[in-house]
Amino acid sequence: MEDLKKLQDELWEYAELGFKEHKSAKAMCDFLENKGFKVNRSICNMETAFDAVYGDKGPVIAILAEYDALDGLSQEADVAEYKPLTDSTTGQGCGHHLLGVGAISAFLDLKKMIDEENLDATIKLVGCPAEEAGSGKAYLARDGYFDDVDIALTWHPSNISSVTSGSHQACIQCYFRFHGVSSHAAGSPELGRSALDSVELMNVGVNYLREHMSSDERVHYAITNTGGSAPNVVQAEAEVRYFVRSTTGPKVKKLYDRVCNIARGSALMNETEVDIIFDEGLVNVIPNFTLEDVLRDSFLKLDVPKYTEEEREYAKKFKETYDIKIVLNNIDDTVKDKERLKNNILESELNDYFVDKEHTNVCHMGSTDVGDVSWVVPTAQVNVNCYSYGAGGHSWQWVAQGKSSIATKGAIHAGKILADSALTLIKNPELIEKAKKELQERLGDDKYECLIPKDVLPHVY
Ligand SMILES: [Zn+2]
Ligand SMILES: [Zn+2]
Repeated sequence: MEDLKKLQDELWEYAELGFKEHKSAKAMCDFLENKGFKVNRSICNMETAFDAVYGDKGPVIAILAEYDALDGLSQEADVAEYKPLTDSTTGQGCGHHLLGVGAISAFLDLKKMIDEENLDATIKLVGCPAEEAGSGKAYLARDGYFDDVDIALTWHPSNISSVTSGSHQACIQCYFRFHGVSSHAAGSPELGRSALDSVELMNVGVNYLREHMSSDERVHYAITNTGGSAPNVVQAEAEVRYFVRSTTGPKVKKLYDRVCNIARGSALMNETEVDIIFDEGLVNVIPNFTLEDVLRDSFLKLDVPKYTEEEREYAKKFKETYDIKIVLNNIDDTVKDKERLKNNILESELNDYFVDKEHTNVCHMGSTDVGDVSWVVPTAQVNVNCYSYGAGGHSWQWVAQGKSSIATKGAIHAGKILADSALTLIKNPELIEKAKKELQERLGDDKYECLIPKDVLPHVY
């Protein structure tokens, strides 16, 4: 427990971005080697991907770990006010340092259980880099890493404890780089062709597209090169980055094609040229109700973390930084007892009971590279509470609470839930078969097709 807390703090401090998690991956690999496991570093062409395998017989259970951080979310620890660090711009705003620690904890617990009961099983702790941007798991799935795996389990830190159900969107990330001609914006504007104008025209075009796309699709952009800060120079170069999301791989490709046409149209309008750079993509999540039931049973058996008065005081300060009405208005439709959750949000600083949810096939807005794994192998995940009620993921509040004992408890508890469910599956192979049959039925004739072309290597753009 103490060494896991140390690892939690270490990963929080490193807060490295996708595919640059060198120190984090090393810390995790060293940790596992020190526990006596054989670790394979740098797998599937990714320097910061790794695995540790225990056992060589029976069903193969993979536990997925993440550890990448987010840019623009640097924040001092344990301070309930926005206070960025002066020496860093990154922060663990999605709690992936906890995700990594919790997954390792599950792996250690499970190894112990298998040994104690002398069971035939192969367990894999899979270090998956670049979840936030980069899609490490998509490369692992594309390159066949999960082909011999029977079940994949994972979790995500949250402000409630529940079993995750439903799908998440497929997503394509891309860049549009416009090339124009520079000139004096006052003296000879007729000679210039503005790449920045093309970016603006493209964004306007896409904003008109919104009215004519499905309501479960999303497109968003950030201008990554404005062409400079001088208004009196016609901007010769400009670039905009897009995320395009839809409910399935084929649908996201169609929407991406429409966005690309708008880019070409924009270039045509003001006589610039455009390079379309496909960066990466990930597919939608295929839910698995069979596995969700197994995870739910583990929650019912092991319940949720318990908190001290001191921890409640700590959480209260963070809860007060957020308009709690927003949380009350955003309770997931699948929560079975909404009144109980509303009361808990109003009366408690922390979610302190298991929030039971209905199964759902609804596609949630947002994306995760767990989707690519879920197409290849039955996959399911849980949320475990690690933070106060209030702000959600990608907030300074989550970064600030990332070293707390509440977060540690959440990660260790997630490990217990995943290990218990994995043990149930190992002891009841018919459940593994049922989960596989469910996946087959859901896919029908569809085959997994990774959105990232075969010849594209993992990269930081
Ligand atoms: Zn995130
Ligand atoms: Zn996340």
